[in-house]
Amino acid sequence: MAKHQFQTEVSQLLHLIIHSLYSHKEVAVRELVSNASDALDKLRYLTLTDDKFKQLSFDPRIDVSFDDGDAKTLTVSDTGIGMSEEDLVENLGTIARSGTRLFLSRLSGDERKDSNLIGQFGVGFYSSFMIADTVEVITRKAGEDKAWRWTSDGKGDFEIEPAERDGNGTTVVVHLNDEGKEFADRWRIEELIRKYSNHIAFPIYLRYPSSDKKDVKIDQVNSASALWRRPKAELTDKDYRDFYQTVSHDSGDPLFWIHFRAEGAQEYVTLFYVPKQAPFDLYQADYRPGVKLYIKRVFITDDDKELLPVYLRFVRGIIDAEDLPLNVSREILQQNRNLAAIRTASVKRILAELTSIADSNKALYDEFIEQYNRPLKEGLYSDFANRETLIELVRFKSTAVEGWTSFADYKARLKEGQKVVYYITGDQEATLRESPLLEAYREKGLEVLLMADETDEIVVPSLDKYGDLDLKAINRSGADEALKTDDTKKKEIEIGPLLKAIKEVLGDRVKEVRASSRLSDSPSCIIADEHDPTIQLQQMMKALGRKELPEFKPILEVNPSHEIVRKLQADSTDEALLEDVSHLLFEQALLVEGASLKRPADFVKRLNRVMAKAL
Ligand code: ADP
Repeated sequence: MAKHQFQTEVSQLLHLIIHSLYSHKEVAVRELVSNASDALDKLRYLTLTDDKFKQLSFDPRIDVSFDDGDAKTLTVSDTGIGMSEEDLVENLGTIARSGTRLFLSRLSGDERKDSNLIGQFGVGFYSSFMIADTVEVITRKAGEDKAWRWTSDGKGDFEIEPAERDGNGTTVVVHLNDEGKEFADRWRIEELIRKYSNHIAFPIYLRYPSSDKKDVKIDQVNSASALWRRPKAELTDKDYRDFYQTVSHDSGDPLFWIHFRAEGAQEYVTLFYVPKQAPFDLYQADYRPGVKLYIKRVFITDDDKELLPVYLRFVRGIIDAEDLPLNVSREILQQNRNLAAIRTASVKRILAELTSIADSNKALYDEFIEQYNRPLKEGLYSDFANRETLIELVRFKSTAVEGWTSFADYKARLKEGQKVVYYITGDQEATLRESPLLEAYREKGLEVLLMADETDEIVVPSLDKYGDLDLKAINRSGADEALKTDDTKKKEIEIGPLLKAIKEVLGDRVKEVRASSRLSDSPSCIIADEHDPTIQLQQMMKALGRKELPEFKPILEVNPSHEIVRKLQADSTDEALLEDVSHLLFEQALLVEGASLKRPADFVKRLNRVMAKAL
């Protein structure tokens, strides 16, 4: 007998499951049946594609039984692929994906919050420890003679020893704890299988004692028909929702779904769901793709990131194709033209549905945007073919309205003669709303879109135009044409010598010092030169490890009408004061932008000198 330690993250997960997940107990049954079904899917695929397995007699079935006597057990058995000793150590002792590990390390231990999070994360096999004192797994891998028994009480380690098993497959025996006793019951099990596993494409049999307890009866308890193949008219919303939980392992609801059957030249069925809550690994490189590929109802893969473009990685569901070859490798399949055509059509269909929701159900669309605005923007950057559609789907915050707004809405609100969409980028909506850069635009009644998403810095400049309107960042030079008046132009000339003096003081801290026409209450602001990256973008690149990035100096703009600037202009003979004030004008502009100062101590000293003078 060999003892093994669980990987630390598995122990953490188990701890969480046992201590904070008891409200989701029934998930355990769903996950065990779903694993059995996956194991059958995997073996079926091999019997169709791999010569080694073609001879194997494959009788796919899932058997569920229970003992409601003293033993109190629940058993789920399949005739699927099974596991070798190494598989057991790997699959039931570690968590492979680093994204999942990261997610776990972030869990707070706050029970209610965590159980919601974990509900959408799908804890799989380990969820059986919610209802078990010990779990036993007896398994034999297809094509091998040796069988193994894995046992654990979920408290840090597990044991593996040789065992006996007729035929390949896996039997999981859950020794129920007090919490789980209710599952040793015919009606309870039947209810759960109908709820979560009805559409599993293999027969699920339930064994139970006859009423006189003398015989054992066996009933098939699921319909075993692929839901997505059934006509839409036959399916209720509840059918779709239940099936969503099966495909996604999410205990929540979907926001909406799109069920489509293509007939004619190319036959296939797709059923896509958008989860109400974004998948926990949406922004992790090793995210788990959510779409499963079937060919003629045979499961092919659930780990193909190419089935939909990366930016639609939050979509869950199924593609079931008729005209694809079953017996080619997954790699070759990826280059298949039919599959590419299905992908293209699927993207169009998903985007069309989003467009229709955006037009007809604002509340639902807002809910969608709260979760998925950022991936859509990624699409705007990466999916050139659908750019026209995506540009209408993304949303922004704005100085003109509450809530989300679109480019089209902005266009509808344009002031007469306005030919530019103004926007400002930064890392927080609240900081942007307070930005001095907005002052003059606000006074002139010009709307500015507030772009606080990291991706905006990259995506929006790459668009350049919305229809015939130019897109201009107000935190860059070149967006202030509309604000210039004869008065500001006159002041610009008057203030020329002072600007020169300030530039001399600041030296290479700034690229240039200019008179500003965009400020009213603030004395100064910084902007980026039209084609330079903004301060936020530079910080982002640094955070991403792009340390070799050259430093782009900002432009300092000062407000000729501001009291400080006027007084400085009237009397700039005090050289020490001119120096302090010049630096302070620059440093305060950095601070309001949310940028950090390289030498905060110098800033404080200057501030104190100026205050002392003023008192
Ligand atoms: P998931 O199913 O989401 O990958 P689980 O924690 O449920 O995660 O299971 C981990 C792995 O253990 C599975 O990916 C699979 O390789 C293996 N496994 C679990 N149950 C079975 C089973 N009944 N037959 C064969 N392999 C299984």
